[in-house]
Amino acid sequence: MERVYNFSAGPAAIAQSVLEKAGGELACYRDKGMSVMEMSHRTPMFEEILAETTAIFKDLMGVPEGYDVLLLQGGATQQFSAVPLNLCTGSGKADYVDSGNFAHLAAKEAKRYGTIRIAASSREDNYTYVPDEDQISWSEDADYAHITTNNTIYGTRYRKLPRAGNTPIVADMSSNILSEPYDVSKFGVIYAGAQKNIGPAGLCVVIVRHDLLGRASPLCPKLLNWEDQQKNDSMVNTPNTFGIYMAKLGLEWLRDLGGLPAIYEQNKTKAALLYDFLDNSRLFKGTAQKEYRSLTNVTFVTGDKDADQAFVKHAAAQGLVNLKGHRNVGGMRASIYNAMPVEGVRKLVDEMKMFELRG
Ligand code: PMP
Repeated sequence: MERVYNFSAGPAAIAQSVLEKAGGELACYRDKGMSVMEMSHRTPMFEEILAETTAIFKDLMGVPEGYDVLLLQGGATQQFSAVPLNLCTGSGKADYVDSGNFAHLAAKEAKRYGTIRIAASSREDNYTYVPDEDQISWSEDADYAHITTNNTIYGTRYRKLPRAGNTPIVADMSSNILSEPYDVSKFGVIYAGAQKNIGPAGLCVVIVRHDLLGRASPLCPKLLNWEDQQKNDSMVNTPNTFGIYMAKLGLEWLRDLGGLPAIYEQNKTKAALLYDFLDNSRLFKGTAQKEYRSLTNVTFVTGDKDADQAFVKHAAAQGLVNLKGHRNVGGMRASIYNAMPVEGVRKLVDEMKMFELRG
């Protein structure tokens, strides 16, 4: 069967060459005589895979000295608990920007462990924008300030990151990590589930500034404790070995493509194709405010639920799948992460034009 263009928000499309490479070495990795899935994580052969994955990731993201990279399990949701358990131990207070569904959930979870303040929120406006620095009132004494760089469900992102004075910024970057360059030194912590722009689900990357280790609550479970994980090379217990290997292949693919400068250009091209069409369409309309539009999740509606449904069906019949919007917003969402080729987006725009003309 031919492969479809998969616009899923995550787990999401993975480059075909990555899948083929994995397929080619599935039963026998290089000269090891076994699959990566069969390797003990306490062997030089797996340690090499882990070290290479981390090194390529650091290189691609431009992770500076003084930061550690952890490859953990439990997804981004587990970090919603890990963040306060590791950091909310000074004043016991933290600030959150409520810019979308996951930002909301992150704050809700953190409330179990600390005094959490919503420093700004766009909830009343259906999360059609992200609160900018001048709309945010940070506390003087928060242990950290939490933001979400890209809001997967609402299709919004920060173009200009807010600053928080001396308070470390903790960012959930799940849905736009590696899609555009970021200056890691502006953050205390970055975390991201892998299943959108890194590899298969089941892996979560955490970048943490070294001086923020060692502050965890005594109640922090060992597996969630970043310091313990850092001291044990992310292997306090058996890590997601195959997920790490798949991430390595994905990161190599991105490196060989020219890294973040190249993919950023490509992502801008893809997003512009869609947004330009939406801005000129009589039928389709983007839902996010223009200045905050996401590069990776493009949300749009026709204004008529039946027409939305008909379009999703029409597109699927043309091999463009998973375009149904999240249940919270309805309409459509095209997730166009790194592995979605420009060609897939062109084809989507062509089908939108066709659907519109058909009336
Ligand atoms: N944060 C964001 C921005 C997300 O998009 C998601 C998943 N879609 C999550 C957190 C939750 O991720 P996970 O399912 O890996 O826990």
